[in-house]
Amino acid sequence: MNMPTPDSAINGIANVRLPAWLLPAGWPLQAGEPLMADLRFDAGKISSLQPARAGQTDLWDACGALALPGLTEPHAHLDKTFTIGRSRPPRPGLLAAIETMHQDRQHWTAEDLRQRARKGLDLAAANGVTRLRTHIDWFEGTPPLAWRELADIAMPGVTLERVALAPLSFFADAEAADLIARTVAESGKDCLLGGFIHSSNWDPAAMTHLMRSASRWQLNLDLHIDEELSPVAHGLSWLADNLTENKFSGHICCSHGCALACGSEQQAQEVLSLLAAQRVTLIALPMTNLLLQDAVTGRTPRQRGITLLKEAQAAGVPLLLGCDNVQDAFCPAGSYDPLDTLSCALFALQLDNLFDQHSRLICDVAALTGDTQTGLPLAAGSAASLVIFPGSDPLTWPLNSAARLVFHHGRLTHQRTWNEDLSHES
Ligand SMILES: [Zn+2]
Repeated sequence: MNMPTPDSAINGIANVRLPAWLLPAGWPLQAGEPLMADLRFDAGKISSLQPARAGQTDLWDACGALALPGLTEPHAHLDKTFTIGRSRPPRPGLLAAIETMHQDRQHWTAEDLRQRARKGLDLAAANGVTRLRTHIDWFEGTPPLAWRELADIAMPGVTLERVALAPLSFFADAEAADLIARTVAESGKDCLLGGFIHSSNWDPAAMTHLMRSASRWQLNLDLHIDEELSPVAHGLSWLADNLTENKFSGHICCSHGCALACGSEQQAQEVLSLLAAQRVTLIALPMTNLLLQDAVTGRTPRQRGITLLKEAQAAGVPLLLGCDNVQDAFCPAGSYDPLDTLSCALFALQLDNLFDQHSRLICDVAALTGDTQTGLPLAAGSAASLVIFPGSDPLTWPLNSAARLVFHHGRLTHQRTWNEDLSHES
């Protein structure tokens, strides 16, 4: 495989293997698999996507390598990331991590926040991420330093969204809730309202204020909701019922939803079908849920702690996978590579058909934004931004797939090509 020249525009890519979910209806198959594709670029956009034909000598030949559109990291915490080296929690579990994070805040200067967040974005971009949504903790009703500092660090090629993450108690007072929503709405585009909703702070009046204030200020929501293994977690079921009775103006993402796995199958089915009807997106976070749920020192966890992804899929709920915390008190590991998240989900959720079906869980921008006008990525007219996985095959991907080439608007921007196969070929 000859590499294209970094940063110079190419006419397109020949012989690329795209996942079945992304291809137009009627795409030809060969031995049960989608035929390779030829992609032509024009001014940084896709000008055509067609079944591969011989003799496309003006295109760069990907030699059958797997490819995806730009990847999505739908759930990060850039304000907390890369703090594990200086702040380790004394015990496992979510509550100890929260205590440790509060102690670490003494270090959160503008420079510290920018440096750590930029490192996270750099890594994400190198891995092929083109859209990253970060939650940012609010500690009172006014924006924290991180809210402002992270507004200015976006880099070319990565759309950065900020979610104001406030505990539900901040919405207990209707006026205070409205002020938070107004501040978020006036913070510029790509800002959302969020909340931490847990049985320990459950307050239906505060939920009503949160929803109303978001609606009033035309904000989309992304909620940390039911991040626990408790059959009495109320968040998702309250939300499902509330949305059925009250119209909400924007789009809602629900992150975590672990407690769905604790109640009865019937309860879960009812909640999921209501959420599907309202096009609420569920974001599963297998890495941190495996690490933090059912976590007791010296005891092997008995439960997986992950939301009902397969049941949600069957009910028609839009779905995504995210990493959540990366190298902080909540998750000392984690990465800004969505393939790591998908690899974790493969085992935790017993997924199959990873490339052709479930790769969608790490690149579905429409599921993140709720924008129903967003067509399939890599269709004509969309951004010529994609990730190539040299040396990978559909059976073992996303494992052993660290090597990759990242194209942004038709130009090679990042490459990591140390796969053994490649060294033989080059
Ligand atoms: Zn989170």
